[in-house]
Formats: sequence, C-alpha cells, structure tokens
Amino acid sequence: MNRPARGRYRVAIVGGGVVGLFTAYHLARAGAGPIVVVDRGFLSSGASGRNGGGVRQQWETAATVRLARESVAAWRRFGREFGFNIWFRPGGYLFLAGTRDELGRLAEVHRVVAGEGLPAELLDRDGVARHADGLSLDGVVGGTFLRSDGTLYPFPVLWGLSETLRSLGVELLYGVEATGLRLEDGRVTGLATAAGPIEAAAVVNAAGGWSAEFTRRAGLVAFNEARRHEILATEPLKPFLDPMVVRLSDGLYFSQTMRGEIVGGLTVPHPPGTAGGMSSSPEFLVRMARALTGLLPRVRGLGILRAWSGYYDENPDGLPSIGEDPRRPGLFHANGFGGHGFMLAPASTRRVAQAVLGEPTDLDPAQFHPGRFLDAHRAAPAEGLTLG
Ligand SMILES: Cc1cc2nc3c(=O)[nH]c(=O)nc-3n(C[C@H](O)[C@H](O)[C@H](O)COP(=O)(O)OP(=O)(O)OC[C@H]3O[C@@H](n4cnc5c(N)ncnc54)[C@H](O)[C@@H]3O)c2cc1C
Repeated sequence: MNRPARGRYRVAIVGGGVVGLFTAYHLARAGAGPIVVVDRGFLSSGASGRNGGGVRQQWETAATVRLARESVAAWRRFGREFGFNIWFRPGGYLFLAGTRDELGRLAEVHRVVAGEGLPAELLDRDGVARHADGLSLDGVVGGTFLRSDGTLYPFPVLWGLSETLRSLGVELLYGVEATGLRLEDGRVTGLATAAGPIEAAAVVNAAGGWSAEFTRRAGLVAFNEARRHEILATEPLKPFLDPMVVRLSDGLYFSQTMRGEIVGGLTVPHPPGTAGGMSSSPEFLVRMARALTGLLPRVRGLGILRAWSGYYDENPDGLPSIGEDPRRPGLFHANGFGGHGFMLAPASTRRVAQAVLGEPTDLDPAQFHPGRFLDAHRAAPAEGLTLG
C-alpha cells in the first residue's frame, strides 16, 4: 500500500478526481504545501473517468455561468499550462425545446447567458436545423445554441493534472482509503486513513459521489446524495455532428467524438446512494436506444460499443458546496457538483483553494456555502438546468 512520505501536511484532500486534483493544483501554485491527495481508487476510477466530457456555459443562474465561463478559459489554455492536449472542441451546445413552455424556459436561460456577455442564440426550428445535421425535427419547436461550449477528453486532463502535481511536489496516494477525520476540541487536525493517521491543518472533502459518505464518516449530516447516471457509446459513424445536443423534455444528450462514436446518456431514475454499483441497466439501454434513434435516425442499426455508469453527486439546489463546514472547523467541502463537476472544476476549485487559505471568495454564500442547508429560511436562486 502507498504510504504518506511525511506525518504532517498543510492540506489533505480526500478524492483524486478532477475536483481534488484541481484543488491541489491551485493550492500548490499558491505555495500552500505540503499537500497530500488520498484516493482509495485509481486515477480516473470515479466520475472523472466516466463522464461525457461536455463543457457548457448555458445555465439558469448567473453565478454558474460565471464559473463556467472562467472554466472554459482554463480549458482553452490547459494545453499550454499543463503540456497535455485535452482535445477541447468548441462545437457548441444545442438545447432543444419540444413545447412553447420549454422554449420559454430556454428563453430565460438565454436572457441570463446573454446578460453575462456570451453570444448565445435563441433559435426557432429552422435555427435548430442550421446548427445540427441529421436531427429529426418532429416535436422540436426551437432551442438555444452557444458556439464556445463544447466537449473535451477527460483522461488527458487527469494525466496532465497528476503529472503536474507530482512535479510540484504534491503527494498523490491512490489505493488509500480515508476512513474519517482526526479531531481535537472539535477542530480538524488530520485524516484517519487505511495507511495510518495523517496530520493536516485542513481536510478537503472532494470525494465526488462518495462525499456524503465521507461527511457522515466525519460524524456530520450530509445534504447531498449520490445518484447513478448511465451513458453509452455507439459504433462510429463518419463525423457529421458538431455540437453536444441536449433535449429538455427527457434529458437526452449526445455528442460525436472525433473517432465518430455517438456518446450520450439519459436520466433513468435510480435510487439514491452508491449501493447499486456502476454497471449498465437494460432499462437504460432500451430507453436510450428509443430516444436516440428517434432524434437522430441515422444511428438506427448501429451497435452499442460500451455502456457504463458513474455517480452524480447532487445537492438539493443543483449547486455545489464550496467552503468550510461551519459544524467542523478545518473541514472544507468541494462537492455536490451533480453532472457538471468536470466542466466547472477549474474555476470552482480556485474558490475552494481560496477558502482553504482563508481568503474571501466572490461566491454568494447563500448559493454555495456548505452551511446553507442548515438555514431553513434561506432564499437564493437554485440551478435548475442540471440535465445534459
Ligand atoms: C456518466 C456521467 C456523465 C457525466 N457527464 C459529464 C459531462 O459531460 N460534463 C461534466 O462536467 N460532468 C459530467 N459528469 C459529472 C462529472 O464527471 C463529475 O461531476 C466530476 O467528475 C466529479 O469529480 P470529483 O473529482 O468530484 O469526483 P470523482 O471523479 O468521482 O472522484 C472522487 C474520488 O474520491 C475517491 N474517494 C471516495 N471516497 C473516498 C474515501 N473515503 N477515501 C479515499 N478516496 C475516496 C474515489 O475513489 C474517487 O476517485 C458526468 C458524470 C457521470 C457519472
């Protein structure tokens, strides 16, 4: 088993997915070492190695648009900064509305996104047809499109981050489970792990779909919960589709990789929690095949190459938790990202690092602070566009 090289660190991070690694990166760049990342799996074993690679800036709340826009800028410079090509391809995100009500909702999203200075387009049916080849427009009344949204490959992101972190002196301990917190007078003094105790002035809970489990291991009530999400890849077709397509009515989404595979998913209701495993269900395959062949008839007859699943880590208001837990000084949360933690990681984790360093962030506490769910009377905009 990997063992920590020292007994004492400034920061220990639970979870070596994109959120934990990017948090470590911002902290290391700020000179906040020594830092250790503890992960019971392997690099990319969590949702960060199982996602659709979608990156978008179209959201219902201005705060999410801002995090997304800053993150897109980070994805664009990732190759220069980390020396890894992540194949970020700005083919746009095309949202589809099937009713006037849905189009009204997208018009509201468009108002928020355009208000943040991004050139999103509100589309009628013909406009939709202009942006995506091969869609059956039966039942489509309009949509929205933003060209600077797109897709990337998650794996080189994780490789680039982990290589860079090692070169910055950050310890990455994969295969080591964090079993709880070490406390003194209610304050965090470190982590209990399967490889022995680790002293740390701050612990970051970046355990993705298992972050609620870790919060409970820390003796606290968790407000987020894991939900299994399924996805598949088809046999390849000659590339024809630029944007990521997302349908509002059922959450169907898909894009085409550079190899030509159609990769996409659909929300199938699974019970909360991580007990169900990360395989694929017949119900998903049937529903996905029906939905996909209906909207994109040219995939009819194609085989499914792979199907898999992972966990969305969902907060009740669709927004992540970023900051110190008011119930446990020294415990910081970087979780609750739902189906969007990859795309939002660069900007969100910069705020996590600021919180760990005791610096103010520009985030509205009513929307992002981990303690917000303790206040029953809080009134802050939730993020409802959590599909796709
Ligand atoms: C099928 C699917 C499709 C998705 N599509 C997209 C998309 O298109 N775009 C997008 O932005 N996001 C998408 N997401 C969401 C995105 O993948 C996640 O929000 C993001 O990867 C979360 O990163 P993370 O680092 O928080 O979690 P993870 O990558 O899950 O990492 C958490 C890590 O914590 C470790 N861990 C857990 N408990 C412990 C413990 N007690 N001790 C030690 N280690 C522990 C795990 O081993 C794991 O490696 C998708 C997710 C899924 C499942």
